Amino acid sequence: MLLDTHGRTATDLRVSLTDRCNLRCTYCMPEEGLSWLARPELLTDDEIVRLVRLAVTELGVTEVRFTGGEPLLRPGLAGIVARCAALTPRPRVSLTTNGIGLERTAAALASAGLDRVNVSLDTLDPDTFHRLTRRHRHGDVLRGLAAARAAGLAPVKVNSVLMPGVNDAEAPDLLAWAMEHGYELRFIEQMPLDAQHGWQRAGMVTADDILTSLRTRFTLTPEDTGRRGSAPAEHWLVDGGPHRVGVIASVTRPFCRACDRTRLTADGQVRNCLFAREETDLRGALRSGAGDAEIARLWRAAMWGKKAGSGLDDPSFVQPDRPMSAIGG
Ligand code: SAM
Ligand code: SF4
Repeated sequence: MLLDTHGRTATDLRVSLTDRCNLRCTYCMPEEGLSWLARPELLTDDEIVRLVRLAVTELGVTEVRFTGGEPLLRPGLAGIVARCAALTPRPRVSLTTNGIGLERTAAALASAGLDRVNVSLDTLDPDTFHRLTRRHRHGDVLRGLAAARAAGLAPVKVNSVLMPGVNDAEAPDLLAWAMEHGYELRFIEQMPLDAQHGWQRAGMVTADDILTSLRTRFTLTPEDTGRRGSAPAEHWLVDGGPHRVGVIASVTRPFCRACDRTRLTADGQVRNCLFAREETDLRGALRSGAGDAEIARLWRAAMWGKKAGSGLDDPSFVQPDRPMSAIGG
C-alpha cells in the first residue's frame, strides 16, 4: 500500500500522458506554450503500463485517471487504456480531457475499457471560449461531450474554472445547460499552478462566490455533509434533485486530510501532491533495469514523505516549479 505518515493511503493514481496541449487556457499556460518534454524523456507506452500494473497489483491503487497536458494527443492512448483495463484486479479507468478529438475517439476509448470521462469546459459562449483558451475550438468540445455521452461514458462530468470578469457570471447558465444535457457539472477553484505564476488569491473566484451566484437561480441543498471522504468535490442537490452540482475548493476548503492521490508525470516522476516541490524519479530506475520490488520501494518511500497539507493557506507558500500541465491535473 502507499501509506504516509499522516495516516492516509493513496489509491487514486493520476498519470500524465503528455505535457503538450492544443489549447492555451490563460489560467494554465502562456500564449506561446511551454518548452515541451522531448520524446525520449516521455515514458513509453510499455513503461506506463508497467508502472500502472505495479501500482494496481502491488501498491493498492484502484483508480487510474489519464490526464496531461492533453491526453487525447497521445497516439497510443486507446492501447494504454485497454492494457490497464485488462489488469487484475481491474482498476477503474478514467480520463480528464479538454474534449478536442473526443468526437472521433470516444467510442473506441469506451470499447478499450475507459469507464468515465471528465471534460473541461468553462463557457457556453464561443468568444469567451477564445478569450479563455486562445483557440477557436468551442464547437469541438461540445461535439466531444455529446460523443462521450453517446458512447456510454457515464456520468460525463464537466469541469469549469471561473475567471473574474471573464466567465464568472456564467455559473447559473452553465448549470442549467449541464442539467439539460445530462452532464454533471463541477466548478474548480483556480489554483496557483499556472506556468506564468499569475494566480492571485485576492483575484480568484471562490467557492462561496460560485454558490452565491448559483443560488440566484437555483435552490442548493448540501448532499454530502460529513460524507465527503476523499472526494475533492463537495456536492449540492439542485432544486431538490436529482441533478447535482459539485465545487472543488482546493484553495478555500482544502481536502488534504482525506487525500488519496498519487501522481505520475509524463516523464516518470512520482509526485505525492499537486503542490509538492519534490519528485521521485521512477523513469531512471526503470531504464537502469530496476526490478518491480525496487520500483515499488521507491514509490512507497515517495508517498511516505507526503506533507500534511498543500501549504496554500500558509503565507510562505511557494508555487511548484512545474505547472499543472506538466504535472498532470
Ligand atoms: N487538458 C486536459 C483538460 O483541460 O481537462 C487535462 C489537463 S488539465 C491541467 C486538468 C484540469 O485542470 C482541467 O479541468 C483544467 O481546467 C484544470 N486546471 C488547469 N489549470 C488550473 C488552475 N490553475 N487552477 C485550477 N484548475 C486548473
Ligand atoms: Fe490544455 Fe488543459 Fe491546460 Fe487548458 S487546462 S491549457 S486544455 S492542459
